[in-house]
Amino acid sequence: MGKSAIDKAKDLAVERFLNSQPKTMSVEQMVAHIAKGDQHVLAKAITLVESTQIAHKKLATQVVNECLPLSGNSIRIGITGVPGVGKSTFIEALGMHLTQQGLKTAVLAIDPSSNLNKGSILGDKTRMENLSVDPLAFVRPSPSSGTLGGVANATRESILLCEAAGYQVIIVETVGVGQSEYLVKEMVDFFLLLMLSGAGDEIQGIKRGIMEMADALFVNKADGDNKLYAQKAARAYANALHLFPARDDEWIPETGICSAIKSENIDTIWEVVRKFEKQQKENKQFYERRKKQSKTWLLEQVQYSLKELFFQNPNVEQNMEQITKNVVSGAITPYSGSQELMDLFLAK
Ligand code: GDP
Repeated sequence: MGKSAIDKAKDLAVERFLNSQPKTMSVEQMVAHIAKGDQHVLAKAITLVESTQIAHKKLATQVVNECLPLSGNSIRIGITGVPGVGKSTFIEALGMHLTQQGLKTAVLAIDPSSNLNKGSILGDKTRMENLSVDPLAFVRPSPSSGTLGGVANATRESILLCEAAGYQVIIVETVGVGQSEYLVKEMVDFFLLLMLSGAGDEIQGIKRGIMEMADALFVNKADGDNKLYAQKAARAYANALHLFPARDDEWIPETGICSAIKSENIDTIWEVVRKFEKQQKENKQFYERRKKQSKTWLLEQVQYSLKELFFQNPNVEQNMEQITKNVVSGAITPYSGSQELMDLFLAK
């Protein structure tokens, strides 16, 4: 797959950014700056991690590996919900609540829409204006190019970098559509689902599977006339969650209402996160979950790397069109087409 003009322009922009001041920095220097909490170098390292260029990736791997011993000391929170539910507003309110307590907070995002050339759902608006300028916060928009697998990997590595930079709470935001919730669930300790009242689950596009993944489900916009409806909806969700089987990690998901815009119940939700962390550390599930996630990451990464190697293989690239034609015309089966491609891939 050749690079699109947009990707080429992005590579160039990345190159320019990486060559900007401080001009040449060794891996050791970058890590030392990150460890001191230097946001500029942290941003630069994340740009390396997100880059699709092999040279950048190599450098990024070194930086992330060096940062690894400094990472892990945070609570990682995933937040999802349909566009418009109030995620940005909520994260801004929660982030401010945390930084006011002196907690360093990083916000990362995965926005699958930006990878499908439909434009970004999360990134198009001015987001988290107050939090963005808070010195204790680091807000990073979603990487805007690459496959979902690549973006997920970059976000995982970015989490480690933020932790090495001393961020104690890492929030990963994603849109409640498609597959990205499953990816985010696999990289966080706690998963929060924000909902609206007055709209059926189908209308909100939230699948049962996503409700089942949630550690907490809060109905947002519980203010003004909407508060009563929100309470009613929260009760209905609580009943629905009770029907799910008991969880192996012993956590019972919590439900409630909040108003992000009025900063109401944001403290309650933070207490739920703290309660979860305490219980899950006591019963060791916190650490078990992270171990499992590392294993999943490894296996996913192998699959992703193989796929990339396969599609970038010149033999495969040259013959892909013809073999696709043969399959589409019915001359060969998709299975034998894939075998031909595998043979081409494996040929020396
Ligand atoms: P996102 O797409 O999920 O990130 O949602 P936004 O945070 O951008 O919010 C979408 C709209 O809902 C904006 O106009 C917000 O001002 C509004 N909004 C967000 N939270 C609340 C809330 O708690 N109450 C009310 N009434 N409006 C809210």
